[in-house]
Amino acid sequence: GHPVVTIDGPTASGKGTVASRVAAVLGFHLLDSGALYRLTALASARQGVAADDAESLAGIAATLDIRFTGNDVVLDGCDVSHEIRAEAIGLRASAIAVHGPVRNALFARQRAFREAPGLVADGRDMGTVIFPDARLKVFLTASVEARAARRLKQLSDKGFSANMDDLLKDLRERDARDTARTVAPLKPAADAFLLDTSEMSIETAVDAVIGWYRR
Ligand code: C5P
Repeated sequence: GHPVVTIDGPTASGKGTVASRVAAVLGFHLLDSGALYRLTALASARQGVAADDAESLAGIAATLDIRFTGNDVVLDGCDVSHEIRAEAIGLRASAIAVHGPVRNALFARQRAFREAPGLVADGRDMGTVIFPDARLKVFLTASVEARAARRLKQLSDKGFSANMDDLLKDLRERDARDTARTVAPLKPAADAFLLDTSEMSIETAVDAVIGWYRR
């Protein structure tokens, strides 16, 4: 199949930015799998579906009408790129991501992004579950403080208000849930390269990934 590079890691580890730069360098397609969970979270919240109603949530995940064009994310014909980045949607996404039926509903949708000439996929389980035969698997880590500082900057750049104490609490809650869940828990694939980005620029991280890919 077409080559895949997977970039997994906890929330705000820098994987989204690294993945999109690596995809640009290699000329590959990009899958931001977290966006699919965020879209399911948004669509289900709009329909008033409870976060523990796994079957209804899976139905929504399976039938989402979405389009990714450049940096824009379109749901039911409306641009929701901004809306899905809200911290509340990220938290709801992590709450619904614990359900096996939701993950199954998104499985084939994620695999369909593997097209010529190749794909860079970022998320939590890209290397362990969705693309176990990836050409290169990377797992990004960073201290919770470094990640909270990055998330604070991202949110304020996008015009959301946020404070450090709430973000640290959110990140710890999300890490605990993503790591502890029984279906596809957050963990590096056995054959993943680990990269701690706490003290590393994006450029250095991108260079490391490209170096591994071309070795
Ligand atoms: O990466 P992002 O913060 O956008 O993801 C939102 C949530 O979706 C994560 O906290 C995680 O619980 C879930 N997710 C997942 N598997 C993925 C991508 C995201 O469970 N591959």
